[in-house]
Amino acid sequence: MSGLIPNETSHRDSGREPPGQRLLHLPIVNNSGVVMPRPADFRSMQDGQSRAITYVRISLLDRCNYRCTYCMPADGVALVDKADILRFEEIELVVRALMAVGVRKVRLTGGEPTIRKDLITLVERLAKLGLDDLSLSTNAERLAELAQPLKDAGLHRLNVSLDTLDPARFAQVTRRGHLDRVLSGLDAARAVGFRHTKLNAVAMRGFNDDEVGALCRYAFDRDFIPRFIELMPMAEGALFYPGSFLPAAELRSLLQREFGPLLADDEIPGRRGIPGVGPARYVGVMYQGQPRRVGLISAITEPFCDTCNRVRLSATGELHACLAYDDAIDLRRIVRSSEPQLADREARLAALIDAAQSGLLRKRSGHVFSATGCGGPTKHMVSIGG
Ligand code: SAM
Ligand code: SF4
Repeated sequence: MSGLIPNETSHRDSGREPPGQRLLHLPIVNNSGVVMPRPADFRSMQDGQSRAITYVRISLLDRCNYRCTYCMPADGVALVDKADILRFEEIELVVRALMAVGVRKVRLTGGEPTIRKDLITLVERLAKLGLDDLSLSTNAERLAELAQPLKDAGLHRLNVSLDTLDPARFAQVTRRGHLDRVLSGLDAARAVGFRHTKLNAVAMRGFNDDEVGALCRYAFDRDFIPRFIELMPMAEGALFYPGSFLPAAELRSLLQREFGPLLADDEIPGRRGIPGVGPARYVGVMYQGQPRRVGLISAITEPFCDTCNRVRLSATGELHACLAYDDAIDLRRIVRSSEPQLADREARLAALIDAAQSGLLRKRSGHVFSATGCGGPTKHMVSIGG
């Protein structure tokens, strides 16, 4: 079970990390709170396609205070039993296991993570683990009151969903949201010192294609990073309308019409210094004499599967190696197992590491999403975790 834990021979003894390897820098604590010997040289994890997996999105719950038209049916989805949702200590254990296989970035998501009770306590716990990046995706309905506590708890960054700046459209797409609350939340996030906040808009023809420029300007004026996401056919395309689909190529044309010629990704100064810049592609636009970046998350027309670095943990502890498929590894079974050989915390951690590693090795080379609405999982986005 713990064959993945190398012997404690040590590069640590020589004070050097071996080239191409990352040492594990987190304590492993047993049931009595005793710090166990630390494996000296876990390698960073690669999947079956040699992609390094460094990033996990963790869904804290499958509930949401909104009902965005592309994410949830108007009457919601079948909810999981609350008892099946991972508790904070269980999430922390899974994060420790994933860190042992190379994960360095965690994004908390949902459903809507800000309606998870005691969210701040969880952020405090995860912030102590020494991750390179700890971020949260939110619809920002509750951000005005939570921005300061989240900052104080050690959260590094925020991603905020904002599809439109028009109050009537906002009410229409979210079915329950209040644009004024979201905009106040974004102001609060800035005021308490969050930087590099990403503003994510799902791009929809006939809905917000006339707001691409306005959303960018709103973001640039506040030092947020605007990003446009191609609609994805989750739930077997149940909420996907091919006529609304707006491909990245068209988004680039709209940006060009608004801001003039685009800059290529590698021409944008400072782009590499932005934390959490993953497979999303960025283009540059000139705004008020300065180059600004705009993200395009174009899973369908310009897939980035060959550079995918992420996995998802559902609220019930299923590790999804790819958003586009239903299959997943059940980590909650290990976390809650009453098997005597897993009674010790270190043995449970080793079992989780084994399971995570075998799951990652089975990560598929790519998705089969299509712009016709086919090729998605049966689950809704809100159930897997976006
Ligand atoms: N409630 C939070 C929020 O909205 O930011 C976090 C969870 S939400 C599922 C995460 C992201 O998934 C949001 O940016 C949302 O716009 C995106 N999303 C949901 N359904 C989608 C779909 N069918 N296609 C593309 N993006 C989608
Ligand atoms: Fe809720 Fe986010 Fe889905 Fe909208 S996109 S329904 S805010 S989980």
